[in-house]
This record gives sequence, C-alpha cells and structure tokens, in this order.
Amino acid sequence: MIPRVLIVGAGLTGATTALLLQRELQQRVSIAIWETARGSGGRMNTNRSNSNPKASADLGAQYISCSPAYATLHAEFYDELLTNDILKPCSLTIEGLKEQEPGTKHYIAPSGINRIVKFYLQQSGVTVDHNRNLNTIDVEVHNDVESILAGYKSSDKKTPYDVVLLTQPVPKLFQLEGGIHSILTKNSDVLKKLQDVEYSSRYALGLYYPPGTKIDVEWTGKYTYDDPCIRWICIDDKKREQESNENGPTVVVHTSVPFGLKHLEDNKEGVQQLILQHLSTLLPNLPDPIEVKCQRWRYSQVYKGIEGSPGCLKLMESKSVLLLMAGDAFVHSNYDGCIESAKTSSQAIINFLKSNGKI
Ligand code: FAD
Repeated sequence: MIPRVLIVGAGLTGATTALLLQRELQQRVSIAIWETARGSGGRMNTNRSNSNPKASADLGAQYISCSPAYATLHAEFYDELLTNDILKPCSLTIEGLKEQEPGTKHYIAPSGINRIVKFYLQQSGVTVDHNRNLNTIDVEVHNDVESILAGYKSSDKKTPYDVVLLTQPVPKLFQLEGGIHSILTKNSDVLKKLQDVEYSSRYALGLYYPPGTKIDVEWTGKYTYDDPCIRWICIDDKKREQESNENGPTVVVHTSVPFGLKHLEDNKEGVQQLILQHLSTLLPNLPDPIEVKCQRWRYSQVYKGIEGSPGCLKLMESKSVLLLMAGDAFVHSNYDGCIESAKTSSQAIINFLKSNGKI
C-alpha cells in the first residue's frame, strides 16, 4: 500500500512541502492537505472585495525581501516565481524601510501574495480539503503496526496516516485533543522548545474605494514610527497588474504590535473604528472607503522561534509512523524561512519513508 501523508495547513510551508514531496516521489506517496479556512494561503493572505472580487488587498505578508545568501540558496524558487509572473521586482517607493543587508532585493506579487501558495499547490497537483479543521491526533496500534489517526471538527471519523506534518502556528498545537498530549509529555525537550515559541499580534485593515478615486500620496508603502496605532500603510493596488481606475484603489493598514496586543480581545468593529480614526489623522485627505475588511492576526510574525532554527521538529517517530511540525517558527518568519522549513520537512519525510521500506 502506498504511504499516506497528511499535511495540516495550506499556507506557504504546507504548500511547498507538498510540492517538494510530489516532485521527488511522484505517485509513490498519497498526500492529503487539510485547511481550516475556506481558501489557501494562510498568512500569505489576499482578501477580495465583496462588491468587486477583482479588487484585492494583501492583508498578511506584503512583499518578499531576499538577502544575497537566500538569492543563491533559493535561486530555483525565485527563478520559477519570476518566470511565471507570480513575483516581480519591486520598483515602488517604500518610505521608512529600515536598513537592510546590502544587496537585499524586494519583490511584489502582482496578482496577490496568496498566488505564491496557490501556484505551489497547483504545481503539486494536490487538492486541498478546505473547511477541515484538524482537532484530534491519536495513535492507534493494530497488529503491532501504528498509525496516526487525524480527526476534524464536525466529523467523528478519524483517518489513519503514516506521516502527519503540522504547519499551523505553534500555539494551536496545544489546542488539539487526543493522544497528542501524552506524545508531547513523553518528549519533554521538544515540548519545552514548542512552549517557548512566541508570536506578535496585530490588526490589518483592507480599505476598498470605487473606480476613479484618487489617493494623493507620493509613496506606495510607508512605515510610520510615531503613531501608537499604525505601523504600515500601503496603496495596495499599485502592486497589481490591473490599473486602479478599473477596479478602484485599495489601501492596506497594519497596526503596531503593542496596539495589536493591547486590543487583542476587543470587539473587532470597535478596533476597526479606532484604526480608521488614527488613519484619518495620518492621512486627512483620504476619502471614505466603500468597504472595509478587518483581520485580527493573533499569530502574526514569529517573535521568538524554535531555538537553533531546525526547520522542523519530530514529535514522534517509530518504524511505522512519523509526526512532525514545521512552519515559519522553525526558521524565520518570511518567505525564505518557510521554504527552508519545507525543504527540511520534505527531506525528513522522504528519509523516514525510505529507511522504513515504505517507498
Ligand atoms: P501559515 O501561513 O499560518 O499557514 C498555516 C495554515 O494552517 C493556515 O492556512 C491556517 O488556516 C491553517 N490551520 C491552522 N490551524 C489548523 C487546523 N487545526 N486544521 C487545519 N488547518 C489549520 N512574510 C514575508 O516574507 N514578507 C512580509 O512582508 C511579511 N509580512 C507579514 C505581515 C503580516 C501581518 C503577517 C501576519 C505575516 C507576514 N509575513 C511576511 C510572514 C509570512 O506571512 C509567514 O511567515 C508565512 O505566511 C507563514 O506560512 P506558514 O505556512 O508557516 O504558516
């Protein structure tokens, strides 16, 4: 029987791992992806306007910054995205950008940042099961052979897998039910490393305007450091291929982390109003939007990752099963961090399958 692999999360790490496994193993493995959201992308999120789905706004990751070392290490990944017009070099004006390592290049995603994830999923050929929220992990032993049983909310059925890769933000691991807790307790070093991970929190707003609206600023993106609420403002449609007068401009606002933490449990509508008030002080001539989307990023970027940036951690391994966890917390919180994590996880899965005679 061909080995069954479950990837939990259709964000950048999950999608890239699926692609690397499929490229190396082709039909020798069966891959499933469960994603709790109704779309793929995770924190590489592109929101669409309710009134005009062609108008979009990147509410999570904004652009990709590639250091000279990663330009060499991930040259194939960048070449593929550039050749397929998923990324293009950023020639837009960004004010207040902190000093970067010399030679760092910036890229934007002209069709929306979630196209990167969707492109990798498409290339992998794996279909994602959306609206499928993993809530249980157990281990079953049958005739001396173990399998990992994965269950999801709204179903009593549990499906057996040989390999399960978890890519959700680390604190979500502790919300799972079942035997996962005794697995972690037996592995106290790993548990401690996972418990030490910390994320920043922030809010993002996407503001949509009718076609023809003029947003009169000289920059595309701007970091602000004096406002207690707003850290980043972007005229998001300037990153898009379509002219803004066709779909209308879009503006993205990210709050500072202290603001995000202070208002984390507050009512979202109230927080939205507060952010809009700060925005009107910073940009008094900004017209009123026709639609506003508010995203609470409880787990935004990784503030304290796994010590030593190992790429992934094995939670349990035997001759029959492998349970591991990966994601940006295991390297660093950006495109290249996720690619490294996916490379390490896919290699760990392939080594496990080969050394146990499963492929
Ligand atoms: P995620 O994207 O979080 O993917 C995990 C997936 O798992 C999600 O889709 C989630 O819905 C799903 N999931 C969670 N729980 C379950 C469950 N129980 N069952 C099934 N599915 C589940 N990076 C950059 O490179 N450049 C930037 O400019 C940048 N800016 C950022 C700005 C913000 C506001 C944020 C939030 C992030 C930013 N990042 C940026 C970081 C980047 O977005 C992340 O590092 C990257 O997207 C993480 O990918 P991931 O696959 O590891 O995790």
